[in-house]
Amino acid sequence: MPLQKMKYIFVTGGVVSSLGKGLAAASLGTLLEHRGLKVVMQKFDPYLNVDPGTMSPYQHGEVYVLDDGAETDLDLGHYERFTHSVLTRANNTTSGQVYQTVLDKERRGDYLGKTVQVIPHVTDEIKARLRKLSTEQACDIVITEIGGTTGDIEGLPFLEAIRQFIQEVGPGNAIVMHVTLVPFIKAAGELKTKPSQQSIAKLREIGLHPQVLICRTEHPLGEDVRHKLSVFCNVPLEAVVEARDVDHTIYEMPLMLQKERLDDTVLRQLHLTAGPADMTEWKKFVDRIIKPKKRVKIAVVGKYIELQDAYKSIYESLTHAAASVDCGIDLVPVEAEALEETHPSKLLHEVAGVLVPGGFGDRGIEGKIRAARYAREQGIPFLGLCLGMQVATIEFARHVCGITGANSTEFDKNCVDPVIDLLEEQKDVTDKGASMRLGSWVTKIADGTKARAVYGQAEIRERHRHRYEFNMKYRARMEAAGFVISGTSPDGTLVELIELKDHPFYLACQYHPEFQSKPTQPHPLFRGFVSACLGHGG
Ligand code: GLN
Repeated sequence: MPLQKMKYIFVTGGVVSSLGKGLAAASLGTLLEHRGLKVVMQKFDPYLNVDPGTMSPYQHGEVYVLDDGAETDLDLGHYERFTHSVLTRANNTTSGQVYQTVLDKERRGDYLGKTVQVIPHVTDEIKARLRKLSTEQACDIVITEIGGTTGDIEGLPFLEAIRQFIQEVGPGNAIVMHVTLVPFIKAAGELKTKPSQQSIAKLREIGLHPQVLICRTEHPLGEDVRHKLSVFCNVPLEAVVEARDVDHTIYEMPLMLQKERLDDTVLRQLHLTAGPADMTEWKKFVDRIIKPKKRVKIAVVGKYIELQDAYKSIYESLTHAAASVDCGIDLVPVEAEALEETHPSKLLHEVAGVLVPGGFGDRGIEGKIRAARYAREQGIPFLGLCLGMQVATIEFARHVCGITGANSTEFDKNCVDPVIDLLEEQKDVTDKGASMRLGSWVTKIADGTKARAVYGQAEIRERHRHRYEFNMKYRARMEAAGFVISGTSPDGTLVELIELKDHPFYLACQYHPEFQSKPTQPHPLFRGFVSACLGHGG
């Protein structure tokens, strides 16, 4: 499709961070898709890391992994859950990647003696990436979210590149949608528009003129406030969109924005026509989340449990699975380290299921092992993801097989019984960035296993992010004691899925199923787990 035919929406954020720009962008994507348009989503992240793979969850929250092995921003998780946009590493551009390309070119001499500068060389590289994406992923509309907040120095090259790009494709083919905060000041009893005016003014200074304003607010905007925002921010009245904090679930957001006619406004501004959006299925899904028939308590035992964003895709996957069986989930966050001092019967006694997510490093490991043991011994449904599978393996080796020195070489390099060990291919790896076993790989599931019943398929593809693996030297000993290896890599060398016999539901996998769950297509493992929890004590 020629570039001019394609339309572009750039989503910026102002006033403060954490406004839910990613969710707003993804929700608009949902609405446009429901109107029959093909949407591609991408994110520009202004930080200098090449990708977020090397960042701590404290800095960044979850690292979201794509099929092609790209380690990306968690907003890409929203994009995949809210739309059908097929994402690749080309859909998350960071300043780090842009500068790396520019500097590589400089070293090769590609700039033919020129002085290399932010404008035009860095901005050209950003535009080149945008063009390449548009050519490779044909669609009607590309939605690009720009990370950070207007006014950040790091964001400037991206904003300048967007300014030039809009100039090139022509107004009417590209718009800027600005997500802003309209705070309520208690003392004055009023919503305040000044922060929005100022952040729009900042954008105008650099030549960007937002045509749509998404106003995050705790209170209804009211005609006067809408009018004020329209006049002072130079945005048509109908394009001042109220986005109140959702009451129950993030999946209400597209419905809320539809009520505000955001999709109509955007289509009009882009001179596009499309049929109405039929959101019936989406509404049903939201209703099931809001008014479930039953509730079930599920513990997530993690090392970053106090961080909302660290296990985002897991929480979303639980929500999708729960909605599909008409149940609500009461999450019980359990700090793994707390289980090292307090007996699991105190922290886990009321839960109907235990989930141990992925992670790195040895903090809290013994607590997770105790959680896995408790779930095994008490017959409580258990789901282990990545590190969760490794923990379950160590636990079983120690307490069922009597291999008391069992551990992972990640936590004890010289342990006597490394039931979890570094992958062979990792032994010579020294760089930390993008060097794990990453992305989508095939798993073969053994007949007659619970995993086979749960998936209903003998071969699956799941996304990975790890360096360590089950050590095959212990296979026979563990299997003899009832440990079931229910899934392996096609050549049979890597253990991908394990389970226990004589347990209602005890499954763990080396991969991350949470990256492939969608609102109306819950992941089989999560669905199986939540159903088992319901059976246990829901
Ligand atoms: N730290 C473990 C490994 O590298 C598990 C990784 C994870 O949970 N993502 O194998």
